[in-house]
Amino acid sequence: RRPARPHRDLVQPKLLAPCSHQHNPSIRVLQWNILAQALGEGKDSFIRCPLEALSWHERKYQILEEILTYRPDIVCLQEVDHYYDTFQPIMARLGYHGNFLPKPWSPCLDVEHNNGPDGCALFYRRSRFHLHSTAHLRLSAMMLPTNQVAIAQTLRCLATGRQLCVAVTHLKARSGWERLRSAQGADLLQSLQGITTPGSGAGPGPIPLVVCGDFNAEPSEDVYRRFSSSPLGLSSAYKLLSGDGQTEPAYTSWKIRPSGESCSTLDYIWYSERALRVEALLDIPTEQQIGPNRLPSYHYPSDHLALLCDISFREGPHRLL
Ligand code: NDP
Ligand code: CA
Repeated sequence: RRPARPHRDLVQPKLLAPCSHQHNPSIRVLQWNILAQALGEGKDSFIRCPLEALSWHERKYQILEEILTYRPDIVCLQEVDHYYDTFQPIMARLGYHGNFLPKPWSPCLDVEHNNGPDGCALFYRRSRFHLHSTAHLRLSAMMLPTNQVAIAQTLRCLATGRQLCVAVTHLKARSGWERLRSAQGADLLQSLQGITTPGSGAGPGPIPLVVCGDFNAEPSEDVYRRFSSSPLGLSSAYKLLSGDGQTEPAYTSWKIRPSGESCSTLDYIWYSERALRVEALLDIPTEQQIGPNRLPSYHYPSDHLALLCDISFREGPHRLL
């Protein structure tokens, strides 16, 4: 039988002083590329993962268990090719509002017996937020539309009355496409700037932003630099797991294909550093926990790890929004 899911600790960033949560309950955000069913079975060639462990019958419960164990307030997923038949109805029954945006030409559609296109999905807990607006974005690169998408939703937090913009994306995969990813990132940042910057006048300032995604880019890539140095003031939450607060985890994805083993940091949770504060992060499993056959496996359903953090609003000087 399949082994138990490895336990992951929720840890407080070492560099942060604890603060009172009484009037400022944190928001739990989950980011995860869940591995599209059609790609996992039909395209990825994960040679060290038994085919049986990749069956949807096995995986769907593992994916849902992993998501629901942590009771997130916001769930950002990539490679969702079972939205309408699985995630939307189950998450709705559990009190989540869902939104789905398929890729224009999903590679899933090339796989025999596919379940439709894969895409990004964004869920929020209905008891925690009201929806203000939704933007479906098709990312461009040098003015040309690409096959990658993003969803951005502006929410109002019912506990604090504050607004929050949440975005989910999945950038172009594979090496050789670094410049396309960078251009997609630039396009996304520009759209998000428009969404989070209120109109003219002395308003309450920009809407705090969280961007979750599989960026398919190591921290050394141009698109990472663009995100960490944009005028939106974004910082990557998982840097706070490191001792110096400046270093990304060693991996968020680890797999073995016929072409070899690939252990890389590709997934990120970006947040507005001036307006938001990271209270806790879900630790990254050790190499030993991941095991010699890497991901996916009988005990872990995707080749990407789920990222999760608790975020709270910083007490702004005179911010009422
Ligand atoms: P990407 O290159 O972004 O990758 C698609 C998926 O493949 C990702 O989910 C990625 O996973 C996964 N992947 C990454 N590396 C590998 C690998 N070495 N082996 C197997 N899978 C891998 O895809 P695009 O969105 O650019 O779409 C490409 C496909 O879409 C084409 O193959 C074509 O089928 C179709 N297409 C069709 C068009 C048409 O006109 N009919 C137009 C455009 C695309 P991860 O993100 O986890 O790394
Ligand atoms: Ca994939």
